[in-house]
Amino acid sequence: MTETLRLAVPNKGRLKTPTTELLSAAGLSFEVTERALSVTVDNADIDLLFVRTEDVPELVSDGVADLGITGIDLLSEYGTDLEILVELDYGRCRLAAAVPNASDLSKIDEFAGRRIATAHPAVTSRFFAGRDIDVTVVPLRGSVEVSTKLGVADGIVDLVSSGSTLRVNGLREVGTLLESEAVLVSGGRGNGAVQRLATAIRSVVAARRKRYLLLNAPSGAVDAIAAVIPGLSAPTVMPLAGGEMSAIHSVVDADEVWHLLPRLEEAGGRGILVLPIEQLIP
Ligand code: AMP
Repeated sequence: MTETLRLAVPNKGRLKTPTTELLSAAGLSFEVTERALSVTVDNADIDLLFVRTEDVPELVSDGVADLGITGIDLLSEYGTDLEILVELDYGRCRLAAAVPNASDLSKIDEFAGRRIATAHPAVTSRFFAGRDIDVTVVPLRGSVEVSTKLGVADGIVDLVSSGSTLRVNGLREVGTLLESEAVLVSGGRGNGAVQRLATAIRSVVAARRKRYLLLNAPSGAVDAIAAVIPGLSAPTVMPLAGGEMSAIHSVVDADEVWHLLPRLEEAGGRGILVLPIEQLIP
């Protein structure tokens, strides 16, 4: 009998939807209900455990789950040595230090003797202790960005993506403690099933950065076009009936497409198609 793999995933918050979308894209078929803690995957021997994002490190570390999806910031706050199997390219943010606009502070090393409010007390304490800067960390569960107005602290350490929440609250960023994104982590009880799931998830992350490009071109222009699009290894070139035209297929970086299209057209490319790729295993 094979053992069911347990994957702990966020049950709410900003990582929930991208995580369930990622798992579906990786080929897992399951139904998400608002109340269920555990959901069985229909087409694989996997149970999804829907839990709070911040509880994922603990559950994987304890062995309640074999794998988990959470943010690097939360892993770091929990302080475990869980193995990061895949960086998932969403939930990107940074754990940043910020002070009120009117503050005399302008750099992280000037925080000595100050009070810092944060929902990441362990990372914050470690960060300042590691630099021999003596600060008082005020642990808060929420509303960190208003704490300086309440006189609770001189500055904050909080998650930032665009920086607009800081600006709205009259704060300015003075340094970064940690860069974060969502990750797939394992507790090290590695077996074939863990690796299969990691490969499927990695294949989706890799595919999202790529596009499949198809075009036709006069056969005499193939070399010029191939020079523009090297592809994963080399582009596939197939002569069309009659031999005057060829079809060219290739995989290209998604963020290069914008620059490639006019160059391909100029080099004689016609009937150019750009398609998404669902999964890619190099
Ligand atoms: P949430 O459950 O919505 O509080 O967010 C959980 C995780 O989402 C955080 O621990 C981060 O890993 C990630 N995240 C990504 N961007 C942000 C952001 N701008 N603010 C807060 N969390 C973020």
